[in-house]
Order: sequence, then structure tokens, then C-alpha cells
Amino acid sequence: MCGIIGYIGKQEAVPILLEGLRRLEYRGYDSAGLAVLGKKVKCAKAVGKVKALEDKIKRQKLSGFLGIAHTRWATHGAPGEKNAHPHSDCRGNLWLAHNGIIENYQKLKKSLQAKGHKFKSETDTEVLVHLIEEEQSKRGGLTLEEATRRALKKVIGTYGLAVISAKEPQKIVVARQSSPLLIGVGENEYLVASDACAVITRTNQVIYLDDGEIGVIEPSGVKIINLDKEPIKKSNHIIDWDLSRAQKDGFDHFTLKEIFEQPQAIANSLRGRLISEDGLAKLGGLQDVEEKLRDIERLVVVGCGTAYYSGLIGEYMLEEYAGVPTEVEYASEFRYRKPVLDKTSALLCVSQSGETADSLAALQEARRKGILTLGFVNAVGSTIARVTDAGVYNHIGPEIGVASTKAFSSQICLFALLTLFLGRQRNLSLVMGQRIARELQNMPVLVKKVLRQDKVIQKIARKYFKAKDFFFLGRKYNFPLALEGALKLKEISYIHAEGYGAGEMKHGPIAMIDKNFPTLAIAPKDSVYEKMAANIEEIKARGGPVIALTTERNNALNKLADDVIFLPKTLEMLTPILAVVPLQLLAYHCAILKNRDVDKPRNLAKSVTVE
Ligand code: GLU
Repeated sequence: MCGIIGYIGKQEAVPILLEGLRRLEYRGYDSAGLAVLGKKVKCAKAVGKVKALEDKIKRQKLSGFLGIAHTRWATHGAPGEKNAHPHSDCRGNLWLAHNGIIENYQKLKKSLQAKGHKFKSETDTEVLVHLIEEEQSKRGGLTLEEATRRALKKVIGTYGLAVISAKEPQKIVVARQSSPLLIGVGENEYLVASDACAVITRTNQVIYLDDGEIGVIEPSGVKIINLDKEPIKKSNHIIDWDLSRAQKDGFDHFTLKEIFEQPQAIANSLRGRLISEDGLAKLGGLQDVEEKLRDIERLVVVGCGTAYYSGLIGEYMLEEYAGVPTEVEYASEFRYRKPVLDKTSALLCVSQSGETADSLAALQEARRKGILTLGFVNAVGSTIARVTDAGVYNHIGPEIGVASTKAFSSQICLFALLTLFLGRQRNLSLVMGQRIARELQNMPVLVKKVLRQDKVIQKIARKYFKAKDFFFLGRKYNFPLALEGALKLKEISYIHAEGYGAGEMKHGPIAMIDKNFPTLAIAPKDSVYEKMAANIEEIKARGGPVIALTTERNNALNKLADDVIFLPKTLEMLTPILAVVPLQLLAYHCAILKNRDVDKPRNLAKSVTVE
């Protein structure tokens, strides 16, 4: 997934590159490197986070007004200095940073080695730079862009890349195929980045590269061509983010800040989208396909990780209230099987970053089949947002913590809005529509109320953080939430956790229960409460500790469960929006007590742009 940043302008490149890397670090952080073009190209690399690179180059003289940098999430070749980007050709003239996977790299590498090229790393990336070198040495005088274009014609796979050459010291060449890349247009300067958050301090104007495009950036301007050398006309987009939202605002971690930001995030996701008196949702992004949506008979939701779980909650809502048959699938599975799709189906892709490789591939498959495609995306202008026929933005600002928090609660809100939208086109009554709309409007206030219990949850975390395993149980709307709760705990505290539909316990998992195996039971006073209460009894009867989440004023669990967390009352379909908050806080506090790197858990990256 990794992050790329590049700079060409009138300022010293190194501080700008480091600042960009710090902002991109969520994309990968097993090593980092940069190459700066002064009198010649100088390169520095370090294992670990950007800070390690920063410390290392304090002792080095790296000066120049042009450079590229990279923070890596290894796919091919172990994390280490020799595999860190940028990679260079045999002579050290060309330097290249890459995000993606070159699928035919082994074949290309063999043929390049046979021609005498010497490889220094185990990465797939390195073939790119040698291919460009080979093109230039085959036909003397080829420009960097022409050699890159010819090289890319030989490549199968995905890339966002930036390459510089000591022989053309006023130029950065970039290219994109399925991995994001944009050009920031500043005053007397240009930047290159995987994500707009890396350029936003210097400019809010960007050009998004599309698949199959190559950009040539020089002080005089930017030229975009395609792989067949045809010129492409592009326009500048304006990014309207508030930079302060990308800072920590006094919280110790982005993850905590983002958990506490949820009332505001939810309000932003709902703003202007509810007409309570008519029980309607107004979704501008779906306006153009409103009539097509009236005719769809089936919705297929694809997503990965947390986004997938939000889809499962969406499925319950859409089937119960909109009457639209809905299936939810891991994008990574959908893309490789043979889904039966006809013109009455629509595909909805849920992705915070809008760049998730598997989700994008699933989307492209659906497009090939000619069905309507929709997106729930947070990152404005991201690939999924641009490729889908229509969609709804989360509008929650950048999510920096690797473990998704505010994006999840916002995604559930978008599903509730979609349920209203599709439901009122179909059989959902005015009265029920009004009720859902009113309860949704209330969500920011209710989430704030749950957040006030942070101290209670912290205390509970102190009691349980040494547990080796955890169960999360729920039923109906809170079954997917149990999966999300387990994922959150695993992701940031590395405690082993499993989520189950509570009814499944007796079919095997209950065998694990003993006094050291705590269970978190999500048991609001809803249509399945009695069943949940019985499941809690069963666990207690086997000596397992239980933390219960239930609705305020329900004191029936006080004696039964070891610890109880209370949630405000709301509609059953919206309970996951409230119940997720204690799960997030529990995971956070356990992670802190275990001294984990909460914002950047090991082995993970925020935006999974490789398969
Ligand atoms: N495949 C490249 C590597 O392993 C880039 C990885 C990425 O995009 O994260 O170095």
C-alpha cells in the first residue's frame, strides 16, 4: 500500500518530503527512504518509521530542490534497508518509488539479469527502474517519460510510481495503474503524492491521475499522456479539507480522537440528508440513478474488514425496512468467483479510503457485467468514488488511525439513509420513515452520551487487559457488531478475540469458556434481548466472566454479568451505532495498557491498495 511523495520547486526538498512522509505513514511504515537531486542524486533509507529516516539524515548533507520519497508496506522482500524505496538502476542515475505489485516481475527480472542488470533488492519494484534503464540504453536519447512509457508497456500489475533521473534534473515522471497517485499544483512548485493529505499544507489544487496515465512534471508545467502517447486533458480539483482535522487536537492518539469525534462525524454524514417530516433521505449523489434504483431487485454489498461488517448491518436494515434483497460479500472473494449478476442487481462498494484494491477490483468486475455500481466512500476524489456510477460520501474528514472507528459508525448511518431512500421508494410507511429519520437525527447526542462512560470502560479494560482470549457475542443487528468488536480488539491490542452470533455458541465455541475467557455480550433491550440474556446465563453457568452492554434502566443484568455498560435507548436497527463506541474504547484502553502502538498497529496499513 505504501505512500509516495515527490517535490519539484524552489524550496529545499528534504523537509517537504519528510513532512509528506509523516502524513502518509498510515499507508505503511516498515521502512522509509528518499532520493534528492542536488549536484547528483543522494539517497537515504532507514528501517522502521519515518522518524528513523529523519534521525538518520540529520547527520547527512542532503540538499536539492527536487526529490521523491516513500514509506513502505512490504509485499515482496522483507522489510529492511535494502528493500526500501526509492530503488535505483545499475548506474545510480534513475531513482524510483512504487506503490503496488508487479505481477510479472520474476520473468522481467530474469530477462534483465540475462542482459547484465544487477539487482540489489528482493522487491518486485526494482524491475521497473531497470526496465527504464534498459529502454534508455537500447535507444540512446530516449527521454525519461518515453523510456518509462515503453517500460510500463511490458509490465503486468499495479502501480503508482514516481521516477527521477540525474540526466534530466528538472523533471519527475509519474504513472498510475490501480494504485492512487495525484499531482499537487502549488505556487512555483509541484508535489506528487499517493494521498491528498500529504500535499494539503502546500496546496489545495490537485490533478488526479487515472489508470494508464503518465504525468511529466517540470517547472514549466505538467503534461499528461496515456500509454499510447496520446495527450490527455486534465483539470485541477480543489480539496476543501480543514487541515486542523488532520491533527490530533490534544488527544494522545488519532484513534482516540477519532472515537471521540464520532458525534461530529455522524452529524456531518447526516447533514442535509434527512427530511424528517416526510420520512425521507435526500442523497444528492444518488439523484442521477434514482429511477434505476427504483427498479433494482437485489443489492450486492462488497467491502473488506470493518467496511464489510458495516455492510452486514446494512443487510439487516435493507431487508427489514426497504425490502431489498441484499447480499454482503468480502470484496476479495467476490472478485474471484463467478457471481450471478443481472441488470436488476446493483453493486455497492464500501471503502473508507476509496482505494482498497480488492473492493476496486470487485467494482470493476461489476462494471464489466454492466450493472449499476454505487459507492460509500470517505476520501473525496478517490478511485472508487470516481469509478462508481453514483455514491454517497461519508464526509467525516481524514481518518488517520489505522483501525477504523468513525468511518464504521458513519457507514452504518449511510446504510440507514440508504434504507430510508430505497424503503420509501418501496413499501416503507411514512410513519416508520419518520421514526427512523428522527432517531437518526438523535444519534450525535446519544453517541456523546455513550462517550461519557469512557472512565467506566477504562476501568473494565484494567480488569481484563491481561486476558489472552475474548469472545464478542450479539444477535441480529449486533451480530456483525460482535465481529467488529473482536476485530478492533485484535487489531490494536493483539488480544485474540472472536465474534459470534450468540446462537452459535452452543455449536462449538462454548467449549472454550472458563474463568480466564471473558465474553462481551451485546444485549440491548430489543427483539432478541431474552435470547441474549439466556446466552449470558449459559456462559456464567460455565464460569466465564461477562461484560454486558445493555439499555439504560435495564437492571436485570446487574447481578448476572460481572460488568455492565449502559446504552441510551434507540431503534433496534440503530443500536450498533451506540454499542460500537464501548467496543472501540475497550480495545483502545486494552491496547494502551499493553503498551501497543495504537495508531499504527504492527503488520497493518490504513489503505490496503494491494491484494
Ligand atoms: N511491491 C512493492 C514492495 O514490496 C511496493 C509495496 C507497496 O505498494 O506497499 O516494495
